Amino acid sequence: MSAEITFATYIPTGKIIHIDRALNGDNCNCVCNECSDLLSGIQGQVNEHHFRHQVVKDCKASFETALHLAVKQIIVEAQEICMPGKGNLPYKNPVAEIIHKDYRPDILILDLYNKNIYIEVTVTNGISKSKKDFFVQSNLSLVEIDLTNIDRNINYEALKGLILYTHKYKSIITWEKESRSFKAKLMEIAGLTFMITLIITLLNLIFKRSKYD
Ligand SMILES: [Zn+2]
Repeated sequence: MSAEITFATYIPTGKIIHIDRALNGDNCNCVCNECSDLLSGIQGQVNEHHFRHQVVKDCKASFETALHLAVKQIIVEAQEICMPGKGNLPYKNPVAEIIHKDYRPDILILDLYNKNIYIEVTVTNGISKSKKDFFVQSNLSLVEIDLTNIDRNINYEALKGLILYTHKYKSIITWEKESRSFKAKLMEIAGLTFMITLIITLLNLIFKRSKYD
């Protein structure tokens, strides 16, 4: 388990906040992401700021659980995310926790061409091979954000910057390929254009020659 709780759910908004944004003491209005019990903000001079359960209990409050929730919240509330090899990717309709067939990716976003992009946030275990295979075979886009090695003292703003504006910790597991029919159509159009140009050129030549004959 992690040493300190730094993220918690702020009751009035239901959103994840970092201890830096919470009030000090018992009236911080925050609950534990693991057990839902009330927390106190501990913002003393000596130790790193953190939350503490108001009633001492054996909760294995996990940094990973809170981090996972915070990342989902950040992406759901944004409209653009930096992706490796894709630059800044604008998106719409972000949804957290959707089920696709037997798999449950953490987040689904739609790019501006209405293509689905699934995002998996990893904090302890990576994506299973069967899940990866499923996305490859289904020709869907899947991006992993692997935060296993993230700095545990990160605050919300730094996390937001990292998730939205950098490639760090992200990898594209698979990316949707253009459907074959679309490619085939493009090839057809290209072929047809070439044939028409050729016929016009030939007709032109024949016409010119017949003029000077
Ligand atoms: Zn707890």
